[in-house]
Amino acid sequence: MQSNFNYKTMSNITFTMVKPEAVEAKNAGAILNRIENAGFRIVALKKVHLSASRAAEFYAVHKQKPFYQELIDYMSSGPIIAAILEKENAVSDFRKLIGATNPENAEPGTIRADFAESMAKNAVHGSDSDENAQIEADFHFSVDERF
Ligand code: UDP
Ligand code: MG
Repeated sequence: MQSNFNYKTMSNITFTMVKPEAVEAKNAGAILNRIENAGFRIVALKKVHLSASRAAEFYAVHKQKPFYQELIDYMSSGPIIAAILEKENAVSDFRKLIGATNPENAEPGTIRADFAESMAKNAVHGSDSDENAQIEADFHFSVDERF
């Protein structure tokens, strides 16, 4: 079957979510603007309210962490904006653009430095590897939703 994506493209995507507090604060537009200005192309985009069970599944890798339940409660507390982004070195360049998990440690000018409220409410998600970018993109988007 013919696919929309070749191998090269597949290795150059990342997955992001604008998290509930940033959507609520009407920062989604400003954050997406920074993402596009940094050279990322939006392949897929949607606003969605995750159920607790969907949030738990998405973050299952953190099941053993002390913050897991808080993370699920938070990520299912309101709608998020999910996106697949394309760029060369998408995963690592996006992690640089968003900054450290804890906004107190995020480089000045990064998205988390400028928009995060706290370590938990840190404005955006970014995939941590090419493999997880694929898994996370597939979790949220069908092939028909990617352009
Ligand atoms: N998180 C938290 N407390 C912590 C570590 C992480 O609330 O001590 C939350 C935070 O929202 C973070 C998410 O859990 O973005 C996933 O954690 P991870 O270590 O994967 O950080 P990220 O990859 O998002 O930078
Ligand atoms: Mg992570």
